[in-house]
Amino acid sequence: MHDLKHLDAEAKKLMMELEGKTLKPRERAAIPPQEMPAQDAQKRIGNMNEVARGYTEAQVRLESMRCLQCKNAPCIKGCPVEIDIPRFIKHAEDGKFAESLAVIKESSLLPAICGRVCPQETQCQEFCTVGKMLKDVNKAVSIGRIERYVADVELHGGNPIMPEVASPTGKRVAIVGSGPAGITAAADIRKAGHEVTIFEAFHKPGGVMVYGIPEFRLPKAIVEYEINNLKQMGVEIKTNFLVGRTRKLRDLIDKDGYNAVFIGSGAGLPKFMHIEGENLIGVLSANEYLTRSNLMKAYNREHAHTPIFVSRVVGVLGGGNVAMDAARTAVRLGAEKVYVVYRRTEKEMPARVEEVAHAKEEGVEFLLLQSPKRILGNEKQQVRAMEVLSYKLGEPDDSGRRRPIAIEGSERELPVDTVIVSIGNDSNPLLEKTTEGLATNKWGNIIINDDCSTSIDRIYAGGDIVLGAATVILAMGQGRKAAASINALLASESGD
Ligand code: FAD
Ligand code: SF4
Ligand code: SF4
Repeated sequence: MHDLKHLDAEAKKLMMELEGKTLKPRERAAIPPQEMPAQDAQKRIGNMNEVARGYTEAQVRLESMRCLQCKNAPCIKGCPVEIDIPRFIKHAEDGKFAESLAVIKESSLLPAICGRVCPQETQCQEFCTVGKMLKDVNKAVSIGRIERYVADVELHGGNPIMPEVASPTGKRVAIVGSGPAGITAAADIRKAGHEVTIFEAFHKPGGVMVYGIPEFRLPKAIVEYEINNLKQMGVEIKTNFLVGRTRKLRDLIDKDGYNAVFIGSGAGLPKFMHIEGENLIGVLSANEYLTRSNLMKAYNREHAHTPIFVSRVVGVLGGGNVAMDAARTAVRLGAEKVYVVYRRTEKEMPARVEEVAHAKEEGVEFLLLQSPKRILGNEKQQVRAMEVLSYKLGEPDDSGRRRPIAIEGSERELPVDTVIVSIGNDSNPLLEKTTEGLATNKWGNIIINDDCSTSIDRIYAGGDIVLGAATVILAMGQGRKAAASINALLASESGD
């Protein structure tokens, strides 16, 4: 039952019973975890609107009451930017939402975004004492949902608290890429009074938050709101600017007079299976599919400037969040049948439990312990089927997950007209290839030191280009760290 009115009424009733009482830890932990109101599955498959509708005020205060205000706060060590979680939750419990948000903003620039997309169950919430007491991580305090609520209060009020910008220092910093790493670095460097320019390859800033994560999980208006705040702070954003082509990386320092550069160019190069039939018409990377839908708004077929492949039966290959996003987008674009084909079991799936549950509710069928051996085409070179092989699980591999072993002779044909490959991303090799002396590892990720500096003087890096495909909050954390290092470098040189 995800109905907002019903959940709100239940929460209000319980609030009236509990308000003003001094609750013991056991009584707090006994408050039922608040369910997230959500759009009805049958309705939402016909639109792109956000699925999770957000807590009501009564729900957020009740959920906050579940927090035990632990002295050692184990949840904090699960948050990559170490937000003071009990402090912001206490304010939320008291209905002091502006104060609550102020605590979060001490550590995080993008709470409305992280509250929505952080994999909380493997970060802050994994360590929550309430989840441990109830022996179920899904019953931990919903830290992310509380965070989302207090951030949305500011968002809906339309009255952002702008950070103070120090007086001009005369120093200039270039940022490559406008994803969470670049945005965060830009904000922190600008606050120190330096001039900041972001160079972005696409025509819209925001990185994966704009072109990858679909509208129904992260409304683009929220990302635009954060970008506008950045512009209000005086950060300049140059779009359609591909560093490495439009301008070489080293030239930004050697010829254009920037005092430092931060690279936050992400991991946007899709991986493929390298199996027979991958060149057929109807085989797409999840990146291309999602970019067309999200960035170019191709789902709005009558008004979009970009077409999108029209599918009837879709096979999505992979078991991560990107695969769930692609499958759920295909459902919304009108596919009659969507399969997620994954070679391990649901337990090993890297996707968030919530995303898998939402995909199932929307009719996506999971073909587990299966993987395509080859993709089959018709006489017009269009996809007509996948030859799928069954697997069983063997001993754990290097990743700690049990290794899938193919069962010989188990081949069968699965009729599909579209295959969306979603098995991960690598970093784009452009900067590495066009920048002499930029040290990278064997996967093409930029190698950094503890302070986020690279092998080239004055050039720093962070986010997916360093970590490989990771998360928004980790990218943000590295953007922060690199900004602190750049600010320290420039401060040490002030007065030159
Ligand atoms: P990005 O967000 O990739 O941004 C990099 C930017 O740099 C891009 O805009 C790119 O166009 C630009 N760029 C690249 N090269 C150049 C160049 N040479 N010159 C100029 N600009 C350049 N994480 C979560 O935490 N939760 C989720 O639910 C989640 N879901 C995801 C769903 C999808 C479909 C995808 C693809 C990823 C998802 N992630 C999720 C991962 C998360 O989005 C990334 O880890 C994060 O965005 C990385 O941030 P970043 O700033 O390093 O790079
Ligand atoms: Fe948890 Fe993410 Fe918020 Fe940190 S930023 S407290 S990990 S939801
Ligand atoms: Fe609250 Fe859980 Fe953190 Fe304890 S661990 S302070 S209960 S959120």
